[in-house]
Amino acid sequence: MVKKIAIYGKGGIGKSTTVSNMAAAYDNDTFVIGCDPKADTTRTLVGKRIPTILDTMRENKSPVLEDVMYDGYNNTLCVEAGGPEPGVGCAGRGVIVAMKLLDKLSAFQNNPELVIYDVLGDVVCGGFSVPLREEYADEVYIVTSGEYMSLYAANNISKGIRKLNGKLGGIICNCRNVKDEIEIVNEFASLISSRVISVIPRSELVQQSEYQACTVLEMFPESEQADIYRELVSTIVDNNTFSTPTPMTTEEFESFFHKYV
Ligand code: ADP
Ligand code: MG
Repeated sequence: MVKKIAIYGKGGIGKSTTVSNMAAAYDNDTFVIGCDPKADTTRTLVGKRIPTILDTMRENKSPVLEDVMYDGYNNTLCVEAGGPEPGVGCAGRGVIVAMKLLDKLSAFQNNPELVIYDVLGDVVCGGFSVPLREEYADEVYIVTSGEYMSLYAANNISKGIRKLNGKLGGIICNCRNVKDEIEIVNEFASLISSRVISVIPRSELVQQSEYQACTVLEMFPESEQADIYRELVSTIVDNNTFSTPTPMTTEEFESFFHKYV
């Protein structure tokens, strides 16, 4: 059965890095859908930026699948929703337009074994809830570090997941090397009734491969970092433990975080 997951998290926390490396680590067909207006999820898989659905549709009202879907490293199929021009319009609209087009073009009938949505999570906008709300994705994972703003965003995301009756599969700790990081993220996860399913170390191999528009998996396949992404994707593919998150109130969140400062 095809597994359809959405990865949410604060902007800049490492969602796209995690998604692209996970997809590169998984040997079966994987469909990667970038839903962040930054449109850079698939760059390291394809080796360059691909045209976004929104940009393509500005010039061509009825594109075919080949116009928007690109082959990437290790059996990945890559799509970027895209966003409006900076300063104009709604950031989440790309997701809505993209999903409609992908449905119309029967993009999901290629039978990928894994579908991954890379979704921004610190913007309160209906567009970003589409993968979950419209049941394109069955499971959600949240990427966070031990930093205040990232956990704050993660708590907000968990509110959205609860509201939409989503299934939270776990928390991915992408380390920024702050003090007590793993402890903080573990406690956060348990407070919202979830668990940490992976701890990804901060590694300079991520930047080195990113400069070459490559994943760590492609550029440093023998590295420990590559193994971490392999373990993560196999944990997610095998995971069948989910929870309904129990988000903290702002007061609860503040008192949780204050223990560590
Ligand atoms: P997001 O998609 O959440 O906005 P990105 O995946 O683009 O975030 O990551 C933001 C920056 O952090 C990138 O420049 C990336 O190279 C860096 N980064 C992400 N994860 C790691 C990591 N584990 N080690 C080192 N750098 C990382
Ligand atoms: Mg991103």
